[in-house]
Amino acid sequence: MKENIHFFSQNETVKKGVDLEKLGQRGRQAYEFAELALPILPGFIIDSDLAAKLGEEKVGDLIRPGLRKAEELVGKSFGDAKNPLLLKIVVSPNLAISNYPTLHNFGLAKDTVSGFASWVGDNFAAHEVLFLVRGMLAVELRLAELESRAKELDKLKAADIEVGKALVSDKATKDAEALMDAYASYMPEGFFSSAAAQFELALKRVSRVIALDEQDAEDTAILVQPMVYGNYGKSSASGAFYTRDIVSGAGKLQGEYYQERFNEIGAEGKDINAIDPGYLKELEKIARKLEDKHREIRQIRFTIENKKLWLIEQRQVLAKSTQADIKLLLDLNARKIVDDEFVVGSIAPGRLNEILHPVVNLSSVKKLPSVSGGIAGAPGAAIGRVYFSTEALLDAYRNAKQKGEDKRLILVMPATFAEDVKAIEVATGVLSCEGGYSAHASVVARQYGKVSLVKTDMKIHGNKASIASLSIKEGDYITINVPYYGEPQVWLGKADLIEPDPKDSGLLDFIAMAKKQMGHFHVRANSDSPRDATMALLFGAEGIGLCRTEHMFFLDKRINVIREMILSDSKEERVKALAKLQPMQREDFYGLFKVMAGKEVTIRLLDAPLHEFLPHNATELQALIDYMDARKGAKKLTKAEIQARIDALEEFNPMLGHRGCRIAVSYPEIYEMQVRAIFEAAYALQKEKIAVHPEIMVPIVMNYRELKQIVYGKKIEGHAYQGIVAIEESVRAELGAKPLAYKIGTMIELPAAALSAGEIARYAQFFSFGTNDLTQTTLGLSRDDFNSFMPDYTMYDLIDGNPFAVLDPRVRELIDIAVKRGSAARPDLAKGLCGEHGARPENIRFCMDAGLNYVSCSSYSVPIALLSIVQIELDKAAKEGRKLVQKEIRTVAAKAAAKPAAKAGKAPASEKVLKASAAPKAAKPEAKAASKKAAAPKAASKKVAAADKPAKAAKTAEKPASEKEPAAKTAKTAKK
Ligand code: PEP
Ligand code: MG
Repeated sequence: MKENIHFFSQNETVKKGVDLEKLGQRGRQAYEFAELALPILPGFIIDSDLAAKLGEEKVGDLIRPGLRKAEELVGKSFGDAKNPLLLKIVVSPNLAISNYPTLHNFGLAKDTVSGFASWVGDNFAAHEVLFLVRGMLAVELRLAELESRAKELDKLKAADIEVGKALVSDKATKDAEALMDAYASYMPEGFFSSAAAQFELALKRVSRVIALDEQDAEDTAILVQPMVYGNYGKSSASGAFYTRDIVSGAGKLQGEYYQERFNEIGAEGKDINAIDPGYLKELEKIARKLEDKHREIRQIRFTIENKKLWLIEQRQVLAKSTQADIKLLLDLNARKIVDDEFVVGSIAPGRLNEILHPVVNLSSVKKLPSVSGGIAGAPGAAIGRVYFSTEALLDAYRNAKQKGEDKRLILVMPATFAEDVKAIEVATGVLSCEGGYSAHASVVARQYGKVSLVKTDMKIHGNKASIASLSIKEGDYITINVPYYGEPQVWLGKADLIEPDPKDSGLLDFIAMAKKQMGHFHVRANSDSPRDATMALLFGAEGIGLCRTEHMFFLDKRINVIREMILSDSKEERVKALAKLQPMQREDFYGLFKVMAGKEVTIRLLDAPLHEFLPHNATELQALIDYMDARKGAKKLTKAEIQARIDALEEFNPMLGHRGCRIAVSYPEIYEMQVRAIFEAAYALQKEKIAVHPEIMVPIVMNYRELKQIVYGKKIEGHAYQGIVAIEESVRAELGAKPLAYKIGTMIELPAAALSAGEIARYAQFFSFGTNDLTQTTLGLSRDDFNSFMPDYTMYDLIDGNPFAVLDPRVRELIDIAVKRGSAARPDLAKGLCGEHGARPENIRFCMDAGLNYVSCSSYSVPIALLSIVQIELDKAAKEGRKLVQKEIRTVAAKAAAKPAAKAGKAPASEKVLKASAAPKAAKPEAKAASKKAAAPKAASKKVAAADKPAKAAKTAEKPASEKEPAAKTAKTAKK
């Protein structure tokens, strides 16, 4: 029998060869801690072979050796009248969920209670008797159930309720001995007579429960450990702490300790770091050991009893920040506890959102009136002017956009509906007062990455809202803070936001680690400003996959110039207006190329329908009239004439109308201006020895003939169309520059384009799948209007989720077809995806499987996409039983980096936009190598010189009858 009782302590682990299955969950846990040599309370486990059979045994004799050892280590004796050791009993089944509470304070009997009270006080001693009684009542209740003693059940239940109530109160109603007398009749005979009798009786009752409980009989053990108390004399304390700060991830312990206090409701604690240095050191050691073992932040409870520190409990922490987890993982990695793969695989990509967005600077809101509380709909921090309806907010948004004013707006409504989605999309946040986490406003806000707070105590009257003492009018600035941890708050006024600090948060180190695992498949950014591009680089983007040039025209100083161009009567007038825009565009591209030195930058030529640029309200219209009138020597237009032009340009289905390359067919001078601006910028940088890799992308192509004409030009019946290749040559000639490597490609965003990808690929060096439009045109669903009826479709189960978020199977099929046909026609065709789908792991997996080379997404999503890619690579490698070997990322930049050229070029001017310190160190050598490439244009140019050559169709592909040779001018560089 003795061999069925296993002793453990900080210095002694369960003997080798013991079947751990027989120790139950809790027993095994104790064994594991003993293995770690942590200061756990010593104890013993009665294994599952014996636990159910104690009824006939001389329990006292059996447990004596273990008990003696425990007494020695704790410094108290069981049954001692002056300083009694008390014990706890833990039922330890193999099942994950145990039905039994821990049973406390065995050994608290008539012979020991006054000794115990002399250490902890009478009131506490009485409470501990109640705890003992409650535990024992649970055992008796279970036994009554198992033995079908229905009559006794009610009596026991009533006593249990009574004890529960008494325990809630701070003050015990009776003294300890009186309580023993009061509850003796519910306990086994003689239960309070002596400590030894009590423990033997308790163990036998517990054993009987296990024996009768079919589920537990076979494999349940019993764990016995001493009790220690943080109020056991002057040199005692108790406390609980996290192994590190659960928000910042800083390595310092976070928590409190209570001097001479134990489980006291409302007791005031002190910072755990202020505890006696000797204990602190010990606690820090325990914390590191547990973090190393579990590879996660843990919460630890401890007790110091008479100068001896004991680890009582430690468990998982659920509410902790992403930053805290990343910091922990990086620390573990630095100490070689976990490898890079573990670090990268441990953070779900979506969690990075939490450290990519700003938080409120609490020192900036000290003087602002505020209210707190509310239901968190979508976390984050938002500042904006308040509007009480979708119409009002959209008007304010347009106005602000046009005037270059602050576009941050917050929608305040009782609840939102389908028609309000448009407003949520442009707002920074939503404040509502109906519903909760799954209310429409919360759901939509989360979907769009906006902040949402539900304040059920908010009252809205017309254009005013009040929340407690706060009253908010239309146009007022408010700040909403919906933290991941803690209470939401609303301030009346504009707070400062703390921009995320990727360096401090550990994000940059984490990204660098993830990038080391990256294969060929990479991530680029959808970005159209140097600032945004800098951010993207910092976040690990390998290039820009989509620069939407129309965004550049909406800027305040340009909008009326583009309007002037759109309203022009003749080509001459249009060209004049475009001439004003060209230097601005050149500047734009120069800035972008410079930041992205050495990396590919895909510039999409104008895509938006022209009417999108025209005034939408009277104020905008007047501003345009004023601008037109102020032009010297230009023909004046009346308001009516301008309005008539605007009306004429109106389209019923603009997204299927005159946009993208279709505009270029009608107005070639627009693309000509953009292409010139691109190459002027590129050649200016070439002169500065900065490597530039422009990729010019033509949008909304439906057949190869459009692309062919835009790339190579066309002459037909007295009309001449100049293609991109010729424009580049003329810019180059004007500047006396040497040829530069560039590519021309197209977006695949129409089913027709996907199906004719084989033909199109002959004129495109790359495809970029514009899955926003491809989804729209495949499903015939407007991306702008779908939100309004999506809830109905979801309710009736007519659609699987949102196809604008997760790629629809039909869209996937079209991509597959396009990849196959395109690559057959041009084997080295580069392929990417730049729709909004690009940052979601499930879409990324498809893109990787479909043979694409990259996804491109917003800068803030780059880390999320990057992490998803790496995790997919890791997953694939694990499934195939191989270790991940870093492959070369096949971008031009990577190739350049691999081939050092003769002269060193300049490093990119990038990181200045963000905190300079945040620039990743790794960027430098890469940039250097990339710019070296620029110093050797000769070799490069021969090989790459542009899209000036249609791909040799793969053998099987038919040569289309209409395919003419490219314009003669291009032949020199194009054809070898
Ligand atoms: C697309 O259609 O997926 C795309 C990226 O282009 P845009 O969203 O600008 O139409
Ligand atoms: Mg598109």
